[in-house]
Amino acid sequence: MHEPSNALSRYHRVSAGTEEARFLTAKNFPVDFDPDAPISDLRSIHDDAMSDFHRAYRSDMSDRSDRPEREKRSDGKSLLDLKIKIADRMLENCHFCDRRCGANRKKGEMGYCRIGAVSRYSSEFLHYGEEPELVPSHTIFLSGCVFSCVYCQNWEISTHPDLGIPILPKDVARIAATRRGLGARNLNFVTPTPHLHTILRILAEMRVNTPIVWNSNMYHSEEAAKLLCGVVDVYLGDFKYGNDGCAKRYSNADHYWDTVTRNFLCAYDDSEILLRQLVLPGHIECCTAPIINWVSDHIPAVRFNLMFQYRPAYLAHRYPEIARSLTESECEQASRLLAESGVCDGG
Ligand code: SF4
Repeated sequence: MHEPSNALSRYHRVSAGTEEARFLTAKNFPVDFDPDAPISDLRSIHDDAMSDFHRAYRSDMSDRSDRPEREKRSDGKSLLDLKIKIADRMLENCHFCDRRCGANRKKGEMGYCRIGAVSRYSSEFLHYGEEPELVPSHTIFLSGCVFSCVYCQNWEISTHPDLGIPILPKDVARIAATRRGLGARNLNFVTPTPHLHTILRILAEMRVNTPIVWNSNMYHSEEAAKLLCGVVDVYLGDFKYGNDGCAKRYSNADHYWDTVTRNFLCAYDDSEILLRQLVLPGHIECCTAPIINWVSDHIPAVRFNLMFQYRPAYLAHRYPEIARSLTESECEQASRLLAESGVCDGG
């Protein structure tokens, strides 16, 4: 049994019910805005509100025992309402992820991910296969993806954005409350980025106190990152590649390094991180090593999970260099690099 790591200390308090999940705080954080204002105005109000939110939130963190009850609003608008409104506008010119397609998904236009305005999920269940800190995790596998990883283990879900159950936020909120009652330690949205607008609406319907896990490739846009601040409790982020060439070759993602490092820095400033690095065969020097070095230099207080379960799934057989499992010596080499870095592996 793993001991809880310090990197996720706040998550553990929320999960235990001794602290409030951030989306609940955002939901009760009053913000006045005109829903019809231009998006630039809404963003500027959001920036100001987030400064206030962080000030209040950090002072709550420093002295939780004396935390005053926030004024609960029975009507009016909240920070979460503002985030929902901005996400709704972003959907008309989609830039949820850094592909920045500009598709008007509300009008049926499709961007790279081919996901429409209605989000779908392929399954939801209590997952026992995540990291020890997270299980049992109420995991919702959302349809589609903004990446095209040639070795994707979930390719049936990621390549079929049109399949799955259409999401009604109220229904999913109800399911989340039931799963929490059955022992879920968190609510874990998998492949969430193209579904940001839907996830925020689900949170608006939720009453139950549970930590929100953003289980993602961390390729969201800067604008999306701002909306996540103040609602995500744990960024469960994949850091896949140590350079842009490998990201392009295996996931068809451009400017990967700058995007993902920017988002990890933002997440680090905002909340807690459980970082996953799936070690790829033959990619220790070009990917695993630079990632460990960067994490050690920039975001050392994260829970780092080095993953060795790579199997050549989906189209990986077309890429001879990754059409195999890891060798024992590759696993040892990666483990040694992490141990020498001093980054927390949670063990
Ligand atoms: S989520 Fe990303 S890939 Fe999908 S339409 Fe929006 S910008 Fe394009």
